Amino acid sequence: MAVSLRASRRIPFYSFLSRALSCSSLNFEADIKSTLFFVHNKALPLRPEPKDRNVQWVFLGCPGVGKGTYASRLSNLLGVPHIATGDLVREELNSSGPLASQLKEIVNQGQLVSDEIIINLLSKRLEAGEAKGESGFILDGFPRTIRQAEILEGVTDIDLVVNLKLQEEALLAKCLGRRICSECGGNYNVASIDIKGENGKPGMYMAPLLPPPHCASKLIQRSDDTEVVVKERLRIYNEMSRPVEEFYHQRGKLLEFNLPGGIPESWPKLLEALNLEDYEVKQSAAA
Ligand code: AMP
Repeated sequence: MAVSLRASRRIPFYSFLSRALSCSSLNFEADIKSTLFFVHNKALPLRPEPKDRNVQWVFLGCPGVGKGTYASRLSNLLGVPHIATGDLVREELNSSGPLASQLKEIVNQGQLVSDEIIINLLSKRLEAGEAKGESGFILDGFPRTIRQAEILEGVTDIDLVVNLKLQEEALLAKCLGRRICSECGGNYNVASIDIKGENGKPGMYMAPLLPPPHCASKLIQRSDDTEVVVKERLRIYNEMSRPVEEFYHQRGKLLEFNLPGGIPESWPKLLEALNLEDYEVKQSAAA
């Protein structure tokens, strides 16, 4: 698949994501069309579309696969914001806002937050970014249901969807080994994953990603990274989010990427798959 770094058109959709959501689910398609009709007829204030815009990419993949790690690295490389809806949910549940206790309960059970709440949090984040002059994005953890994918499709063009894949055995171990520095927010992993190849399936080794000494004493675990909850999150992914992969496959936007190992093995291969190897060399030279 050819991957383009710039796309030709952009619909600034932040202000009408929420409106799209308010469409009745009974006649969803017709409602989305009427929303777009409304938008195209300038009933809503549309900002002019720049000729070139930054990438609008989506990262899909099971919990623990590494969406955050690779989306964040690409966001630094391409200069676009990495927007993880899981982070938005965690910010909200750690706040003293009215949704905090409701969100805590949902997340700690491994369930999905309602489309309404997620769209609301995402719209606010995009609007705030727009106000700061951000353009483009790499979405991580959104869309997670077909309804979310339809809403997104109704309001903007997604250029590329990267579906990260890892052997199932590694996913649970990676979630259980995940650690976050409570001070700087850095992501680490204490798990050492060594899967032996058998029955034609390749083996895989992933070295731990250990924190630097100044973070080591400040590591915390996510409250939903327990064995019971991770298994539930994986079940929910298969039920609710797996169909989103097919949604984008049918639209010719899905890039399947099997992670060959940890970051040292996977990052160069991912850049190659995205036609970005030269881009990284140029960026490093310019730095
Ligand atoms: P994550 O960090 O992506 O694993 O997300 C953590 C939790 O936030 C998930 O288990 C859900 O409860 C919630 N969440 C994040 N993104 C979404 C989404 N797009 N739709 C519904 N719930 C979400």
